[in-house]
Formats: sequence, C-alpha cells, structure tokens
Amino acid sequence: MPVVPINQILDPAFAERYGVAAINIVDDLTLDAVLAAATELEAPLIIQTSLKTVKSIGPKALYSMWRARADEVPIPVSMHLDHCPDRRWITTCLEAGWNSVLFDASALDVAENTRQTIEVVAEAERYGAHVEGEIESVHGVEDDIGSDEEGEIHPVMVSARFIEETGIYCFAPAIGTAHGLYKGKPDLKPERVTEIVRLQPIPMVLHGGTGLSEEQFKDLISRGCAKVNISTALKIAFVDSHREYLDANPGKHDPPSLLAHVSEAVKKMAEYHIGMFGSAGRARALSVSAG
Ligand SMILES: [Zn+2]
Repeated sequence: MPVVPINQILDPAFAERYGVAAINIVDDLTLDAVLAAATELEAPLIIQTSLKTVKSIGPKALYSMWRARADEVPIPVSMHLDHCPDRRWITTCLEAGWNSVLFDASALDVAENTRQTIEVVAEAERYGAHVEGEIESVHGVEDDIGSDEEGEIHPVMVSARFIEETGIYCFAPAIGTAHGLYKGKPDLKPERVTEIVRLQPIPMVLHGGTGLSEEQFKDLISRGCAKVNISTALKIAFVDSHREYLDANPGKHDPPSLLAHVSEAVKKMAEYHIGMFGSAGRARALSVSAG
C-alpha cells in the first residue's frame, strides 16, 4: 500500500472514532522501528518530523529516506511536519513532498493567525497536502518550539470560527495537555473536544499525550481526537534503551547489537500506543489511492 494523503487515513479514523498514532521519528532507525510496528499490527500510521529533525537531516535527505522505506510497507502511511512557525520551512517541506503540515502560528493573535493560515491552506492545496491548525499554543517546549508559560485559552466559538474561516483539515485544540513530561496530574478539559467537534466536525489532534492514562487517551479519541501525536514517549524509549544496553554491557563496542536493542524498544513503544488507540487491523479496511 502506498504513501497516501493524510485525509485517507484520518477521515475513517474520525468517522469510526479510533486514533491513528502520529509518531515523531528522529532518524532512520526510529522510522524503521515504528513502520515495522504498524506493519505487524496492520495499522495505518502517520510519521511526523519536528522542524529540528528536518533541519538536522536536511529536507531532501529526510524525504528520500522516508519515501524509500514507506514505499515498501504494506500499510497506508502519510508524512506530516509537526509544529512549524516558519512559513519558509512550510514551503520547503511541501515542495519536498510532505503530505501534511502543522502551521503553528499560535504565537500570533487569532486574526493574524487566521489570515496566514488561509494562505498556508491555499499553498498546501497546490501540492495535494493538508494543514493542521492551532490557535492556543500547547504548553511546554518541544524540539525548541513552544513556551513554558501558560497560554491563553479562547472560548470554543473562537476555535470553531478559525476552523471555518481557514478551511484547515484538522485542528489541535487546547485541552490541558502539555509537551514533555507532566510534573503533576494533568488537568484535562476533554469536553472542549466534544464542543468543537459539534460545531465543526473535523478530526482533532491530541498533542502532549505522553503521561496520560489509557482511559484518558480512549476518552479523547472517542470524542474525536483521530490523530494522536507521540513524541516524548519515543525520545524516552530511544534514550533509555541506549543507556540500558550500555549499562548492561560496559566493555562491549558492538553497534549492531546496541542498535538492535534500541530498535526493539522503540518498536515496542509504538506497538503499545497503536494497540491502545484502536487502529490495529484497520489498514485492511481502508481503500486508499497513492498520494
Ligand atoms: Zn505538539
């Protein structure tokens, strides 16, 4: 099955209320490991990249790597650019072939965010790509983007109007989640998802999921969070498994064994989330066409 436009993966997930994992990869090992997890579970999957990863690997090399791997898997997959406040990088990634972008103009006021998001949606359409939008910044810093300050939360009507005026494909509402690890118990506002979906029925995106309970994930998915971002959990699996192997094998200098250990840990992390979100086995039912 081919690389497909992201709506072919998220429309059915939103309609049937299951979640699709959108996993932030950092290199070829993590890309391979999460694709292997989704393939084994016959699940549709979204691969996403932070702007930091795009800059460190380079957009052309990163896209070629993705495409070479993605064209070989038997599941529908799509490539998304996570939080990107910089219009030039949005253009670069759309030109390179990304299927979807999050234009993060949450630092701007809503009127200016709306004006610019309308332009980004028009630009993405020319590439057959889709746009995720947001008006409230997700609390916490992730790959150098964001802030630890509590952001303003607008009434749901403001979100609904933003969705209608911009024509974005999916929306990341502020629901009390945060990037990184939670210090206390997260104070979630799940009803905001229900209210926004009632006003504007488009797929919602869950950011800052690491640290939520299974019940919280399932509840938010049942309310319309069809795209569930996973970033911190991958970083933890990646870094901790390196440490684990090196601590257990202090005298060994055997990169293939180290990498196999890390790959297995990342794959397990992906399998756990895909299984919990309810997308295992869904690849079979999707009728998709190449994007
Ligand atoms: Zn995020």
